[in-house]
Amino acid sequence: MSYDFKNIEKKWQKYWDEHHTFEVTEDNNFPEDKRLYILDMFPYPSGEGLHVGHPEGYIATDILTHYYKMKGYNILNPMGWDAFGLPAENYAIKTKTHPAITTAKNIGVFKKQIKSLGLAYDWSREINTTDPDYYKWTQWIFLKLFEKGLAYKKEAPINFCPSCLTGIANEEVKEGKCERCGTVVIRKNLPQWLLKITVYAERLLSDLELLDWPEDIKTMQQNWIGKSEGAYINFDIENFNDRIEVFTTRPDTIYGVTYMVLAPEHPLVDKITTSKQKKEIENYKHYTSTKSELERTSLIKDKTGAFTGSYVIHPLTKKKIPIWISDYILISYGTGAIMAVPGHDQRDLEFAQKYNLDIVQVVSPQKGVIFEKSNEAFIEEGFAVNSGKYDGLTTGEFIREIIKYFEENKIGKLGITYKLRDWIFSRQRYWGEPIPIVECKNCGHVPIPESDLPLKLPEVTSFSPTETGESPLANAKEWVKTTCPKCGGPALRETNTMPNWAGSCWYYLRYIDPKNKTSLCAMEKQKYWLPVDIYVGGKEHAVLHLLYARFWHKFLYDIGCVSTTEPFIKLRNQGLILGEDNQKMSKSRGNVVNPDDIVSEFGADTFRIYEMFMGPLEVSKPWNTNSIKGMRRFLERIFTLFTQTKIVKSSVIDDKLERLMHKSIQKVSADIESISSFNTAISQMMIFLNELENYEEIPEIVAINFIKLIAPFAPHIAEELWSILMSKNSIFNEPWPDWNDDKLQQKEVTIAVQVNGKLRGQVNVTTETSEKEIIEIAKSNEKIKKYISDRQIIKTIYVPKKILNILIGG
Ligand SMILES: [Zn+2]
Ligand SMILES: [Zn+2]
Repeated sequence: MSYDFKNIEKKWQKYWDEHHTFEVTEDNNFPEDKRLYILDMFPYPSGEGLHVGHPEGYIATDILTHYYKMKGYNILNPMGWDAFGLPAENYAIKTKTHPAITTAKNIGVFKKQIKSLGLAYDWSREINTTDPDYYKWTQWIFLKLFEKGLAYKKEAPINFCPSCLTGIANEEVKEGKCERCGTVVIRKNLPQWLLKITVYAERLLSDLELLDWPEDIKTMQQNWIGKSEGAYINFDIENFNDRIEVFTTRPDTIYGVTYMVLAPEHPLVDKITTSKQKKEIENYKHYTSTKSELERTSLIKDKTGAFTGSYVIHPLTKKKIPIWISDYILISYGTGAIMAVPGHDQRDLEFAQKYNLDIVQVVSPQKGVIFEKSNEAFIEEGFAVNSGKYDGLTTGEFIREIIKYFEENKIGKLGITYKLRDWIFSRQRYWGEPIPIVECKNCGHVPIPESDLPLKLPEVTSFSPTETGESPLANAKEWVKTTCPKCGGPALRETNTMPNWAGSCWYYLRYIDPKNKTSLCAMEKQKYWLPVDIYVGGKEHAVLHLLYARFWHKFLYDIGCVSTTEPFIKLRNQGLILGEDNQKMSKSRGNVVNPDDIVSEFGADTFRIYEMFMGPLEVSKPWNTNSIKGMRRFLERIFTLFTQTKIVKSSVIDDKLERLMHKSIQKVSADIESISSFNTAISQMMIFLNELENYEEIPEIVAINFIKLIAPFAPHIAEELWSILMSKNSIFNEPWPDWNDDKLQQKEVTIAVQVNGKLRGQVNVTTETSEKEIIEIAKSNEKIKKYISDRQIIKTIYVPKKILNILIGG
């Protein structure tokens, strides 16, 4: 019988489907500690289909699912589609095909591809974020956010592509250019919906401690949230009643302030600019408006700015300090103004050097050390110098003292700030969830009643964005015109849509209760499954999806919709699968490998084993088609071994084989549980196979355990061998084998050694030492050696684990 993978794989995929093998229910026979929620980051169903990088994480979670199912757990492992997004919309603009049609087609392709890999998803729970029955609840959550004051509309500067005529997200700006067309992105003020994620900054930060996530992802979230402690300080403006408020983490450098900088958009700029400086300031503001935030804050860029002509009064020295504007200060960060300390801040230093402003040293690494002029600012902590009565204090002491002084004199106060900003939540796009709000002249922004949800996308004739930067929904005039739910007067619907991150903020909840018509997810079902125990996906979502989803989850917790404070307890990232040339796979490099080709040539089991054998899950690794052939041979050898070798019901197992079996059970179990070392589990199975191939008969228990161990990795071949050997269906209903620690060590035995029938000594060996090795050990034993001397050995007789008799000539 040869390994006919094509028929075997088709047969078992059909069997699993027909028998609903991987569908789960909230079965209370499983105790609470035997319920696991294992989740993959769901894909965007692009027109290009699955790429070999996608299934890497899916295969890993599939192995975990099979393993824990055999260990007696109830496992939820669902799959769905994150289907709103740009590519379908761009395709619609080009071809006039409705994005819903393209999306449905792409989902069909993805699903077929995923099924061809034999992944054990519970397809009865499949979700699609573009399905109105799904986005009804995305809109519902938005209404709740609005009701609690966490969603608001205001004019905010956004990234705008002058060629695509639309606003785009920060993450869609690559090196200052539009990711779609390469045009330089400008800043444009448009009325936007924002979500107050900032209200959750502290909890999003401190609850990271509760999570078993890779450290680098936690650090990225910490940095993104960017908490800093320091002081707010007010500077009086000379000849005006206004004050400029700044925030600084280093109030101890107050004596080093030699100029102030406002963001060009700061509301005081026009007021305080002197008539002499007006033209220069206007020109500079115009110049800045064409730049993206990323460009403005780039550390390497040349510093630019303009002087307003006005001054503030230093609160301690009472000196006049000039007020400048510069694009390296963002209005959206902090107070939109800084006190510049060029002696101790690199950007301030570069600016001061360029515009010939004073540079004063106020911190020294050791008491009293004064620097020469330098191109590098001293940014460390140290001891105060040139700071009046504070000279000699350490940075920490100085900060405490000066904040006290500020507070007593109403100059400033202790403050905490976060880099995190409110989430710009509207897009001028067609293919997104409509925002369920109307605008009424009398009542302002009014939410539509919950009973009107889902608010479906209207049909439009053009999916293209409009010249004015409005969403294509604005063209659906009949849809836009509505009545105000509050006063009954005429009102207009919101025409912006939600960003493509909205649907993925809560999808893991819907899998738990996908068909619920009355709530987004019933509490009793959530209590059965939540939180997600193991979440596997790519690193690129570190501060986007993973932060947004935590925010929504915390909000849902606050309004009593979920029962846990965090959505995902354990997170693991899979590494990238690179092309054979060690470069990132991309169409333009021509190094993309299509999983369909691999599956049809080598089989799904080979593909699965190969991807897991490439290296630890989390590292990036290059594809290699030659290695995949080795994996195929490995599976062929397994198939041949168990279909052609005699399997015996004997209870006697060779010590060496028994120990190898226990060792393999232990290692494969531990490697699977590590969610990383799937590769070394496979290596262990290769060692196990190599040994088994030396036997003419295989004890049944060894065969059973071998097939069970390989089953999570290569489920089709395992099912086939199981049905052949055991005449039973689905190995996944069988228990995972246990190992015995006592069987992991080699057993020692003492062998009596006779020479010509007379006892001459003994040797200590293990039960796995071969006869040949024992003869050599006996021959080199001091006691025995002298009886053999240089005489010829005629014959040896070995009674295993007992006696070795050496017959020598006269
Ligand atoms: Zn563009
Ligand atoms: Zn009204």
